[in-house]
Amino acid sequence: MTDTMRAAMVPEAGADFEVVEKPVPDPAPDEVRVAVDACGVCHSDVFVKEGTFPGVSYPRTPGHEVVGHVDAVGDDVSMWSEGDRVGAGWHGGHCHSCEACRRGNFLQCENAEITGLTFDGGYAEYATVPAEAVAAVPEDLDAVDAAPLLCAGVTTYNALRNSDASAGDVVAVVGVGGLGHLGVQYAHAAGFETVAISRSPEKRDLALDLGADHFVDASERDPAEALQELGGAKVVLSTAPSADAIESVVGGIGTDGDVVVVGIPGEPVPVDIQHLVGTAGSVSGWGSGDARDSQDTLEFSDLRDITPVVERFSLDDVDEAYDRMVSNEARFRAVLDIAGDD
Ligand SMILES: [Zn+2]
Ligand SMILES: [Zn+2]
Repeated sequence: MTDTMRAAMVPEAGADFEVVEKPVPDPAPDEVRVAVDACGVCHSDVFVKEGTFPGVSYPRTPGHEVVGHVDAVGDDVSMWSEGDRVGAGWHGGHCHSCEACRRGNFLQCENAEITGLTFDGGYAEYATVPAEAVAAVPEDLDAVDAAPLLCAGVTTYNALRNSDASAGDVVAVVGVGGLGHLGVQYAHAAGFETVAISRSPEKRDLALDLGADHFVDASERDPAEALQELGGAKVVLSTAPSADAIESVVGGIGTDGDVVVVGIPGEPVPVDIQHLVGTAGSVSGWGSGDARDSQDTLEFSDLRDITPVVERFSLDDVDEAYDRMVSNEARFRAVLDIAGDD
């Protein structure tokens, strides 16, 4: 291998990407170096690009949907070997010693690292990642398909499997986009009676193809009423980052139902508390998962042939990939195909 690599970096908050040639990083004793095959472009990369997250230092290479193979191993790492096919997601490592870590809740680590935010991520030919933040990637999954599963996939899969829904329960997914088109597939594969809710009637056929049993066109009818006709939802997974969309489904939950929000709106959400009291229901939030959660997501996706709908870009086309993602035009996840650049 050569001593230098290509990387797309943000020189300072709000600046344009620069694709530069820079030294290949060496892994610290507790890290592995990943030769990156593909990296997804996620809406949370806006935090890095625009500097809207506290504590990002620049220049910084974003990217927290990283798939590749281990190409060098730090001296203290025993769980990974050169050649292992691996990925890294948003959760970029934990301290093992804070209160949350001592209770085994690594996602809530007070000193958690974030891939592509507190350290350089996967918009590059190589990235170094803490060993505990690495997930094994099944051989059969294409790197470009696997990348979005490390963020959009694990977020929806983990939110559903940590909910109270059981096979046969009515589970609705609000929004058929980057997160929602995966949420519908996971809900179907988990055996739920799956309802896709969208304000875009043209998403109907896709939603049904992805495994939805019902499609509710929320531009036409009240989604809460539609869910009540089905007996009330046990879980509504809300992926649409819209306060109106969240407010409009709270009335659709049945007894002990839960609206689980994974798409974060920019403003507060008014909620019908009377309905929550009447159903003993709740509105809650969920964010991603740790490396083992990511690996579970990848393994289940492989088992059930669940893949994202993606648009591929080369590293040189990072601006176009980012613009399509940020303008919500990408169908449905933009991915940098870095190995394909050769
Ligand atoms: Zn993400
Ligand atoms: Zn910790």
